[in-house]
Amino acid sequence: MNIIDRRPSPPRKPGPLDALVFDAHRLPDQGIPTLAQLQSRANHFIMVRQIRSSGVVVKVTDDFDAHAMGGCFNGQAAWGEIVLGKTLMSVLTADEIDFVLAHEVIHVTENHLADRLPFSAVRGLYDFIALDEPIVQLGLMGYDFWKVIQQAQGNMPPAEALTREQELQADAGAVRLTGKKGPAVSALTKLVGGDMQAHSHTWEALTVEMPIMSMGERLRELHRTFPWWA
Ligand SMILES: [Zn+2]
Repeated sequence: MNIIDRRPSPPRKPGPLDALVFDAHRLPDQGIPTLAQLQSRANHFIMVRQIRSSGVVVKVTDDFDAHAMGGCFNGQAAWGEIVLGKTLMSVLTADEIDFVLAHEVIHVTENHLADRLPFSAVRGLYDFIALDEPIVQLGLMGYDFWKVIQQAQGNMPPAEALTREQELQADAGAVRLTGKKGPAVSALTKLVGGDMQAHSHTWEALTVEMPIMSMGERLRELHRTFPWWA
């Protein structure tokens, strides 16, 4: 007696977890994930980070860009927005998009924006005062000049050192969230068109004028953190 029922099973109703499923073998020309899929995946990452509530909204633009603006209050409530560009996603595989999304989630959940405030807010205030006060303007020019000298001597100024630290933290956190290093390496390589000397931040929203690190350096740090991961 044939105990295997070969009748085709009736079509399954889509469940709430279906939006979480990414097809890792999807080729770049097979379209990009839907906004609902991206939002669901972001929610999943935030939940895995054990954050109780989230008001983080995913948005899609047409750009070759990915960035995040937001934070996490008291480690309990995440807020903000994550922006992913269609042009960028169109050249990435599903796993690579997953890495980029996880990278931006880490920026939000680790409160990277708030940690930058002491630098960006103070600088913004001084820039504002400098509009009316030539002496402050002169002081800021002196400070910028000092930063260039520091950079030339291999000493990264504090705000830039923090940016570097945050990027490396977001990369490592995203590899842990997605469980994969390979797509992180290939996504970051695509972001700079394979040029390992290229500045790694051309795709960040908060543009930093001086080179913080090359993509080659960023990938070396990733391999150093996960030497045995694929
Ligand atoms: Zn980043």
